[in-house]
Order: sequence, then structure tokens, then C-alpha cells
Amino acid sequence: MSGSLFDRWRGGANEDSQALPAVGLQLWLDNHAKVQRLAGPLRSLLALPAQGATRVHDYLARHSLLVLEGEPADWQGLPLDLDFNTLAGNALHTRGWLQRHGQGWLLQLFDIGDLLREQRWDRQRPLFGEIGNALRECGAERLVQTTGEQLQLIAGHWQARSLRLLLREPGGWRHYASSEAQWPWPDDSRLQAWLQQLPGAAPLEVVGQPELQALCGGAALYLVPYRQGRDTEAWLLCADVANLPPADMALALARTVVEPLLARYRRQQLQQQSGQLDDLQQQLGAGWWEWPLGGELQLDPAVAVAFGLEPRMGLEQWLAQLHPADREPAQLALAQAREGHALNLSLRLAQAAPRWLHLAGQRQGNRLRGFALDITALKQQEQQAGAAQARLENLIASSPAVIYVQGYAEGALHGEFFSASLAPLLGWASDSEQARQPGLAVHPDDRPLWVARTRSLLRDGHVRSRYRLCDVHGGYHWMLDEARLLRDDLGQPREVVGLWLDVTDATDAAERMRQSEERYRVLVEDSPAMICRYRPDLTLVFANRPLADYLHCSVVQLEGANLGQWLSEAQREAFVLRLSALTPEQPVSSAEICLQLPGREHAWWIWADRGLFDTGGRLLEIQAVGRDNTEVRRSQQQLLQGAKMATLGELATGLVHEINQPLNVMRMAVANALNRLQNGEVDRAWLQTKLQRIEAQVARAERLVEHMRVYGRRSTVEQQGFAAWAAVEGAAALLEEGLRGKGVSLLLEPPAQQEQVLGHPDQLEQVLINLLVNARDALLEQPRTERWIRVRQVAEGSRLRLLVEDNGGGIDADLHERIFEPFFTTKPAGVGTGLGLSVSHGIVSHMGGRLSVGNSDQGACFCVDLPLYSTS
Ligand code: ADP
Repeated sequence: MSGSLFDRWRGGANEDSQALPAVGLQLWLDNHAKVQRLAGPLRSLLALPAQGATRVHDYLARHSLLVLEGEPADWQGLPLDLDFNTLAGNALHTRGWLQRHGQGWLLQLFDIGDLLREQRWDRQRPLFGEIGNALRECGAERLVQTTGEQLQLIAGHWQARSLRLLLREPGGWRHYASSEAQWPWPDDSRLQAWLQQLPGAAPLEVVGQPELQALCGGAALYLVPYRQGRDTEAWLLCADVANLPPADMALALARTVVEPLLARYRRQQLQQQSGQLDDLQQQLGAGWWEWPLGGELQLDPAVAVAFGLEPRMGLEQWLAQLHPADREPAQLALAQAREGHALNLSLRLAQAAPRWLHLAGQRQGNRLRGFALDITALKQQEQQAGAAQARLENLIASSPAVIYVQGYAEGALHGEFFSASLAPLLGWASDSEQARQPGLAVHPDDRPLWVARTRSLLRDGHVRSRYRLCDVHGGYHWMLDEARLLRDDLGQPREVVGLWLDVTDATDAAERMRQSEERYRVLVEDSPAMICRYRPDLTLVFANRPLADYLHCSVVQLEGANLGQWLSEAQREAFVLRLSALTPEQPVSSAEICLQLPGREHAWWIWADRGLFDTGGRLLEIQAVGRDNTEVRRSQQQLLQGAKMATLGELATGLVHEINQPLNVMRMAVANALNRLQNGEVDRAWLQTKLQRIEAQVARAERLVEHMRVYGRRSTVEQQGFAAWAAVEGAAALLEEGLRGKGVSLLLEPPAQQEQVLGHPDQLEQVLINLLVNARDALLEQPRTERWIRVRQVAEGSRLRLLVEDNGGGIDADLHERIFEPFFTTKPAGVGTGLGLSVSHGIVSHMGGRLSVGNSDQGACFCVDLPLYSTS
């Protein structure tokens, strides 16, 4: 540094010591090296020696004592390098000379600290070469590690805690390598931001940045930039550097590290990127192509392989590879490109499976070049999409629906697009007035609907409505309109996409259906018949007014009510049993049912059911129509009663005899008893016998009268199970005496088992009385000596037959049908009523049986055929 200063100083020193420059340090010594006086700016740095010690040696660092051996006179003329102790504790490096000064000596010294430092750094210069070589020569995979090692080396020289290298990347500063695995501070965006705004021109000691230093674990920071042109490409971050290098040294070292590193690193990046690009191109099926004018067409080898083409081809050869249809367009486009137009060409290759290649490029100098792209997949998709689009358009055009788009402008909608089906449907041209404003074609009655449709479409975003539109011929079509409002990104209405479906037929059909349903409803409601629908569990689903009226309920009350509540238990069972017999093949059944109406007489209804089944054959519901039969029933009963009374009248003659009989017996007994009493012959035992006989006769008469009374009563409503033979015995009890009196023997053949039948006992007895009386009359008409009536019971399977035979000559076969007709009689007026057999027939039928007649050898044989009744 200061060679010139020394020279200047040495040159002028002898002339005038007073004119000494005020630099360095001056010590005046006596001949024994004792310090007489100190001067110069460096004086203030010195550590003062202990009291009393005043030799120059007392100011020096220990190793410098060797330099000053002997007396001052010995040192004269020699360059002296002396290190002084300083107040700060470090050594002050000086160089100077001793000169005679009057009687004593003047020691003039200069600070050579910088000079020494520079020399020391100069010794480090070979290190640069080593670092550069290490970084240039290591394997790519060891680059980071080697950099770390070099940073370690530098850290050693600089006596730094650690060093770190940051490289500039597009996103910020990237930590590349460190002198040690554990960097004292973490990556932090604040550090990044701070680095970003540094000029990066010179090394920088960070002082007075407590926030940043705190971020770096309290380390003192020293930053060395590396610049390339105007940009800072790297930062060397150094923590706690004890031996701070000169700035140019630091910059040079940073350059030594970063330059080879960056070169390799950028190359690596480039290689990586180009590898990625290649991959990408391969995946995309893209690559370059080039055509030196007049030369061969060259293709990226990867593309050439992918397309099965030669990488180099003459133009003719290349054109031959193209689909014939594309050859001419390719030739023309290339010719244009030669003239400087941009080339943009999609070509089909003449291969079995069609492949598409897109060429884009430009003339550059005397060659055309650009990129080639495999667009086969794209083209195929395009073709598929095209086909799908065509199908869709075809579908739309041929569908009965019209697809339309209405544009939105300032709260109003106007027709913009209609599918081709508009013309066949309404005959409107798509640019007609109606198409633009369909509201004009809406049926006048439906205009409020149209206005409401538009309003709610704009409000809710969608609508479904139905109204009539007028076609070009003036006919109206019912349109089902489904529309949706589309909005833009800001939520503003943009357009309406909708669909019209001609539902005229369906609407008409629905209207017809509604009318027919209405008629049906009126029919059902107004019908005098009782109509209802009910479920298999007898819950009513619907009942019409007559039914409700009959049951003294309202129609509403009946819904959900159970029909079974008006049936006796036996009736309900029979009812459900009948329903269970309904099948999809035999869905209809009818019966006469008897209802129990609280506080009223029993009602008889003729009831017809029709079952409704699901597809699985399960009974879902039953529709029923009922007709009140109570009146008919009542008159039938009256008729029956009448017939009964007639029979009773018939029986009266017999009865007189029956009752006379016990009366006669009693009269005789009483007369005998009186006689005995008068004669005083009363024997107690005899009297007792007589009275017992009288009592027995009274009991008999009583039984007869009681039987008559019971018989004369109206039948009970409910049928019951009873022994059929009991009816035979009942009839016999009434008639037996009378028959015997007329010489007719009644032959009863009681069955071994008393089988039961279901019905009313008195009614079956009435049947038997009729049959017996008719047989008797037939017998009495015949002059014969022997007259008999035989009654038998035959049980067969589930049936039972009562046979009543006589030997009265039988009935003319022609009359076999007619005798059961009401009022048919062969008896004289006043005798026969013609009702006996007719009533009997009704009774037997009602019991589920059949009354029939046939002729045996001797007379008629009536058969009462009945189903057996079992209680189990
Ligand atoms: P009615 O006895 O009052 O005539 P019915 O209906 O009981 O009425 O009988 C109808 C007719 O059937 C009789 O008039 C008689 O001609 C004929 N008839 C009934 N039972 C017999 C019988 N057992 N033998 C012959 N004829 C009979």
C-alpha cells in the first residue's frame, strides 16, 4: 500500500524532523531505548505499560522483543517490523526505521496491518484454483456435496461459523448448499424478500438489522453477491465471520465458487428441461419438422417412428404417404409457405387405420420449419362428436318436441332459435313474427298462463306450463312447455332454453277421461243402488250417498269404516269366505246378506262383488253394488207365513181330533172317578192312577198346543244347525193321529245318526208337513185299501236326503216342473192354494238344497236334498 509514502517520508526526513507528516507513530528514545516522548495518531491505540517501565520493549508484543536486541545504535538503518500491544487487545502491526535525532533517537513507525492482511489473502489465491477445479471436475451427482465441502474450506479460512449458497430461481432464492448440514437459520420469506431488494453490487455486513439477525439465530451476517451482468445470480451468506476478507477477495471467491457451479447447474437444468420437453412431446405426439427448400423433408425421429414414416423423405415420397384427398391441399399450402405465409395444415396419412398429423410452421431463411402434432385422437373425437351432434340434431328435428332458445334483453324474452320440428308442428317459419313473439299465438283464454309462465321463469329460473298455441292454419295445439333460464357468470339472465311438446291428444284424452269420470261419478252418486269400494279387510274406501243414507251415516264417515260392523259374526265369516273365493278368473260373486242395523229391523241386501287384483293375482280391492231386498224378503216371509197359516188351517181339523182325543180320555177318567166317589169305592191307588192318566193327557195336549204355537211363529232371522230328522218328527207329531184316523199309515225310518243341516227348523218342518199333507190328499183321492207314506233319511258324502214316498199313484210326468209353480193346484177351489210346493221349494233352496220329485212304482217320491252342516 504505502511504498510511496515510505519513500516520500524517507526522502524528506533528514531535512526537517519537525515537518514530519502527522501519520503513524513516533517514539523518541534515548541511547538506552528509553521512551522520551510519543506522538502520532496511532499513539492513542497503544496499551500503556506498567508504571516505571519506560523502554520501547515494554510497549511491544512478546514476539517483537527479539527484533530489538542490543542498543538503539544497533538497530539504525534496518527496517523494523514491530507489533505493539493495543488497548483493544489485538496487535498493532507496524513497520519503521530508527534515525538519529539530536542526542537521542527517533523511531518512526507506520501501520502495516492492511499490507499484512493482503499478503495473507494473496497466499490464499491458489485456493481459488483448487475450488474452481473441484467444482468443475466432480461428478454431477456429487455437485451439491462438493459445493458444501468447498464452502467448508472457505469457512475455515474466514473463520466463519457457517456459509451458505443461495441461487436465483424464477420463484426466489434457492438454498443450494451449505458448509454444514445444520444451517443456523431456517428459510424464511422475510429473508427472501430482504435479499430481493438488495442491490447485490458489493459484499455487505449486516449490522443494525436486529430482526434479520434474530432470524439467523443472532448471527452476525456477511453477504457476498455474485453478479452476471446486471443481475445478482447468487448470494453467499456467511454467519459470524471472524476473519473478514477484503471485499474484492470475497467477490472473487464467490465468483470462483458460483461461476463453474452455475454453469454446470444451468446445464443440468437445461438437460432436465429438454428431457421433460422430449417426454412431453412424445406424450403429445409432437415434434419438429424442417424442410430446407429444395432438399429433403426432415421429421423429428420420435414423430417419424410414431407415424411409421421415414425421418428424411423427398417431397414426392412424402406426398405419397398422404391420403390422396389431402395431397393437393398439402402441396398448395407448402407452396404458399415458401412465399412466406404461415403454414397450418391438418393431414390424413394413407394408412389402414386413419392417422392425422397437424403441421404448423413458417419460412425461416431458406428453410421451412415448425412443429408436427399427432391429432389423430382429436380428429377421432371430433368425428365422434360430429356424429353424435348429427344424431342429436336428427333426433331433435324428428322429435315431436320443439326445442327453442329465447334471448333475454331488458326483462323481455324473444325467440332466437327453434329446432326444425317447429315447421311440421305449427307451420311457423323460424324467423316469423310468431316465432319471435310466441305470446301472440297463445290462445286468448290462455294468455294469463303465458304471462305467468314468463314471470315465474324469470323469477324461479325454470317453469313448466301448458297452454294452447295457434298454428298457421288457425288450429290450436296444447303445448307442454318446459323451460329453464340460463344465467351468465354474474348471475344475470342470458337466455331461456325450452321445449314444447304437443300434448293436444293427451290433453283431449285427459279431458274426455275427466268428463267420463265425472259422468261415472254422477252415475255412482245418483244411483239408487248402494255402491262402494272396500279392501279385503272390509275397510270402506268409498261409499256413495244411498249407502251412507241407508246406514244413517255421512259419506265422509263411511270412508275408513269397516263393513263388518253391520254383519253378525256368522254373516261376516260367510262374507269373508265368499271373498276369499274370488280369483282374477272368477272376480265376481253375489249373495244376499243380512245386516244388523242398531235400533232397526234387519236389512237384507242383494250384494254383488267384483274383485280388483294386482298383476300378482293378489286381491287389492272390491267394488260392490248392493240392492235392498228387505221388502222382498219381508213379503217372502209373509208369503211363507201365509202358507204356514194355510197349513195350520189345514191342520186344524186334525188338531181338533188330536185335542179331542185327550179330552175324551180325560172325560172318561173323570166320570169313572166321580162314579167311584159317589159309590164310596174310592181306592186311593186307583184314584192316583186315574189322575196320572189325566195329567199325561193334559201334558200331551199341552205339547201339541205348544208345538202349534212355535210353528205359527215367524222364523228367526239367523239360520242355525239342527238335526234334519227332528223336523220329520215334528211334522209327524202334528199329523200322525190325523193320518191314522184316515187310514193312512205313516212309516218313519229314523236314521242311525242324527246329521245336522243349516236353516230354520220350523221351515223344514213346514216343508215336511206340506209333503205329508199332499201325499195324504193323493192317497185319499184313490179308492184303495192300503195307504201308506214312508219317510227315510239317506246321508251321502256331504249331503243328506229326506225321501217322502207314497203309494198314491204318482204325478203325471208332464206336471213334474209345474207343480212347483206358485198357485198351481189340481185340487178344487177353496181346498188347494197351490202354494205348498212353491214355498217348500223356496225354503229348501234357501238352505242351499234342492227339492225334486220323481215317481216310484206306486206313487210319488219327493226328495229334499240338503248340504250337511258340520260345526267343526
Ligand atoms: P195344493 O196342495 O194346494 O194343491 P201344492 O203346491 O202343495 O198345492 O201341490 C200342487 C199340486 O201337486 C197338487 O194340487 C197335486 O196335484 C200335486 N201333488 C202334490 N203332491 C202330490 C203327491 N204326493 N201325489 C200326487 N200329486 C201330488
